[in-house]
Amino acid sequence: MEVDHVGIAVRSLSETTPKWEQLLGSPASLPEEVPSQRVRVAFLKVGSAHLELLEPTSPESSVSRFLESRGEGMHHIAFGVPSVNEKLADLIRRGERVIDREGRPGARGRVVGFAHPAAFAGVLVEFVEER
Ligand code: ZN
Repeated sequence: MEVDHVGIAVRSLSETTPKWEQLLGSPASLPEEVPSQRVRVAFLKVGSAHLELLEPTSPESSVSRFLESRGEGMHHIAFGVPSVNEKLADLIRRGERVIDREGRPGARGRVVGFAHPAAFAGVLVEFVEER
């Protein structure tokens, strides 16, 4: 399994993105709105993986709640898998908690699904369907 990206919650993409672009020496993707997660995201390439900067677009976004309780910082890690539905079904069969019981549309036109942080030592784990 490969790390697809690491998600970082930010209050403002426009304020944060230039700092990461300078650090990594590469330009970020144009911001993209992901309605299913009520966020706007930008990706920066790091080797074969990416950073995903997430800015909430609504107070109801889980990223808004994350920012309120913990402030800016690492939000989730995402792994590439052949099938998000199979991965989630496998976790459910093994009695693990999940946020999504099946895949949903995510950023970059990819299918994504989330396990519950309680299942993995407090880390929010996302699965991204490989192309
Ligand atoms: Zn993500």
